[in-house]
This record gives sequence, C-alpha cells and structure tokens, in this order.
Amino acid sequence: MACSRYEYVKGYEQDDRILPNVWIVIRIDGKKFHKFANTHKFEKPNDENALHVMNVAGIGVMQEFRDIVLGYGQSDEYSFVFRKDTDAFKRRAAKLLTYVTSLFSTSYVMSWPKWMQQPLAYAPCFDGRIILYPSDENLRDYLSWRQADVHVNNLYNTAFWKLVLESGLSNQQAEQRLRGTLSADKNELLYQQFGINYNNMPAMYRKGTILLRKRVLQFGQDEQDKGRQAIVPLHEDLIGAEFWRKHPEILGKYVPGKQQLLDEKSLPKLLEQQLTDHMEEKARIS
Ligand SMILES: [Mg+2]
Repeated sequence: MACSRYEYVKGYEQDDRILPNVWIVIRIDGKKFHKFANTHKFEKPNDENALHVMNVAGIGVMQEFRDIVLGYGQSDEYSFVFRKDTDAFKRRAAKLLTYVTSLFSTSYVMSWPKWMQQPLAYAPCFDGRIILYPSDENLRDYLSWRQADVHVNNLYNTAFWKLVLESGLSNQQAEQRLRGTLSADKNELLYQQFGINYNNMPAMYRKGTILLRKRVLQFGQDEQDKGRQAIVPLHEDLIGAEFWRKHPEILGKYVPGKQQLLDEKSLPKLLEQQLTDHMEEKARIS
C-alpha cells in the first residue's frame, strides 16, 4: 500500500510493551456494585447465583486467554495471572487490559440470564488495572492480600446482616454494634447470638473462587484415563504453603495441572457446563 502523507501520525502511538519476565496481573472491578447489587436485589450478605455469574465470566476469560494460569474472584472483582513468559499481544499493556476487561464484561452480561431470575436493569461496567510482580513471593502476597480481604469483609458482612435481618437492628445500629470488634468478637457474636459456626459457612463466601486449569476425571472414570481439561473452581486457602505444594503448575514452567479426581457424585454446575459444551462441540465435529 502506498504511503500517504498522513501516515506519520502512527508515530504518535506509544510503545507500551510490558517488561519481560514479570508476572502480569490484571484485576477487574465492578463500578458502583453496591448500587448494582441493590437494584438487582442480591441476597445479603452473599448472593450465590450472582457470584456464579462472576465465576462464569472469569472462566470465559480463561478459555480465551490460554496464558492465564490462575483466576481469583471475590465480591465484584476478579484477578487474572498471566504466566511470566506470555507473549500474548506482544505483551502490549493496553491491548491485554482492554481485551480482558471487555471480554469479562460481555461474558458477565451473557451469562446473567442463566443464573439470575430478574433481567438486567442496566449495563454493568468494570474497570481494570495491570499490576506487575517481579517475584513469586510478590505474586503470592498479592493473592494472599485479596483473600485476606474476603475474610475481613465477609465476616463483617455476615455479622452485620444477621443483626439487621434477624435481630431487627437498623443499619446504623448494626454498624455501631460491630465498631471496634475484632475477628474473634464477631465469631463469638455469630455463635452466641445466632448459633453459627463461621467456619462452617460455604467456602466460596469465606475464601473466594480460585480458577485453575486441570485435567478432570469424572466420577467413576478410571484413574488411568487422561481426563479432560477444564477450568476448575476451587475455594481453598491460598495463603498457606499447602496450596502451592498441591498446585505446583501455577508457579512452575507451564504444564496443564495434574489430573484431579472429582470426589463428588454430582459435578459442580460450573464444571458441568464446560464439559457439556465440550461434548457438544465434539459431536458437531464428528
Ligand atoms: Mg467495586
């Protein structure tokens, strides 16, 4: 193509390629989700189906971007960790960030009707940021920070909404009751006043959702079977060393995770959908 006299404007584009050999974390976050949750009548303190919409959107992003080794979601945010040596979009920051953020948003909207009763009242919107971590320790600390955040918020919210919904306190009174309390106090309050052992609450609410690539074997399948690759939602503690020993593929040179035997008879819905999609695809090909 002939050069036009206008072509020089291309020179104004900035090179935003990310440094080599660093962990790339992209975190997206819902805009004004407090209002969004109220408008759509999310259950308090946790709406299981609304969290599934987030998780399905996270899975959608990981299906598209194969270099994401881990996703971590809680509340209205999701973090995605790209492997250190990814060459996706030549590591161009703006491209990576905008693709991930827009794909997450559109996947969220598309999966909404499958999980939620009420239609979307307006378009949800997410911001995104890129954070770079040079060391494995930095990356682990980042993820630990996000998981500690879930713990603090969820314990508070669980106690807060119990006081409001079951003890009839106003929002202000509940806030006052919890002001200055430590974790142990809130645990005690839940146990004494509501008979709740916080540690028995669903792990997804307490730990958030970790998405990892694993080969999965369905119940009853031979252990020698290769299984199928899927993005598996886990709700484990990632702060302790055990998690990293159990899933060495995250920090190691990239290999798909080892086979994971699903121990429940019924597959978690999020997995079932992926395996069904895969089977339908196969049936179409043959
Ligand atoms: Mg937010």
